Amino acid sequence: MPLSREQTELVVLPPSGRYSCHRCGNCCSRYAVRIDKSTYERLAAVDWSQYGERFKGRPLFIPLDAAKEGIYSHELARVGARCIFLEDDNRCLIHSVMGADAKPLMCRKFPYNFVRTPEGVNVSLDLFCPSALGQKGEPIENHLSEIRGLLTEVSEVATLPAEVALFLDQTLNWRDYVEVENALLALMLCEDATMEARLIAGTALILRVCQVQLQARMESQPVPPVARTLGELNVAELLAQAAKTPAAPLVHRLYLGVTLAAFESMAADVHGEKPLGFGARVRLLCGSGRVKLWTLNGQEVSLNQLRKISFDTAQTEIHTLMQRWLISKLESRTVVPLTTLVRGWHHFVGHFIWARWFSRAMAWRRGSKVVECDDLFEGIQLTEMAARTLAPQPGVKSFGKFLDLVYDSPKFVPAAVADGN
Ligand code: SF4
Repeated sequence: MPLSREQTELVVLPPSGRYSCHRCGNCCSRYAVRIDKSTYERLAAVDWSQYGERFKGRPLFIPLDAAKEGIYSHELARVGARCIFLEDDNRCLIHSVMGADAKPLMCRKFPYNFVRTPEGVNVSLDLFCPSALGQKGEPIENHLSEIRGLLTEVSEVATLPAEVALFLDQTLNWRDYVEVENALLALMLCEDATMEARLIAGTALILRVCQVQLQARMESQPVPPVARTLGELNVAELLAQAAKTPAAPLVHRLYLGVTLAAFESMAADVHGEKPLGFGARVRLLCGSGRVKLWTLNGQEVSLNQLRKISFDTAQTEIHTLMQRWLISKLESRTVVPLTTLVRGWHHFVGHFIWARWFSRAMAWRRGSKVVECDDLFEGIQLTEMAARTLAPQPGVKSFGKFLDLVYDSPKFVPAAVADGN
């Protein structure tokens, strides 16, 4: 249900969020735009054939299966990957002809993500948008009245429960969850440690909170406040331990292979392409061989070659972008607390791995053996798009139920981030 005016008054904005539309056309070229019946009726009443040859002799609105798509009745047609209403200069024809407010809600809502929390509606920016990722444009406060207006229209806003799931049947109240979130954010800012060590230390931190809770319950003792558990943690020691965590190439290959096989199959499904064959799956599971990747427009690539491309998180520009992205992801509250904290954190690390993987692919495409900041920028955008496209529920950016199983293992983080780069 859309939110009432009073509910929209309480919004939590990302502290460093900036964005203005620079008409890159990315969002109109990648996502399928679905519309409800009333929008369909409004748009279908216009004779679009007067605006160009591409509108003639073809359906502009593709009917959807009502049983599957809920409130959506149609999808906008595309020319290749681009929305049919997207002009050559990346202007929206609906916007030009009928005004900004006439555009489908999905278009007007981009790049905002909303999730209801006990503090109010948490707003974040979709970092598939290059302006949002590059922090180009107006501070997000300047978009507040637009955001409030959108909130009265959107019907699919995920809600975080007052008790956030920690692990299995263990939960944290909202205040305690915020303590953990703040500790993770502080960890992301520990400049002396590598990003990989920070991610591994984040797992140790969350598992320690789980362990203390479980122990208290087993001994029928009151659960100590999370703030105390976190206060007793020696973060420097956690990071030092994390830095010593040995790489586990075999386990890493398996995780990478399973994730890649699952991802490519789902992507093929979503993008109507040929699913991976048996041989390709086996090769992926072995973490080697040559496969055709959707992410590289079906080009064949050797995984061993990709793995050899250097990705250095200590390199200043890469480090800054990676850090800013990961902090924005944590602040978005759409990854970590919507599953369980442990699993959510593992998904969070999964996003890191994907960004690293995609940026290597971008460097490979450029013919380089070293990932540069622009490759990572594209890698992050692809990761964001993949996570959004494959999300199992509105607002949750994760890679689907199957991958939850992969990410469930506490060994996942150390094995997956330590790739001996
Ligand atoms: S309707 Fe307009 S804003 Fe929406 S995807 Fe198409 S061109 Fe972009």
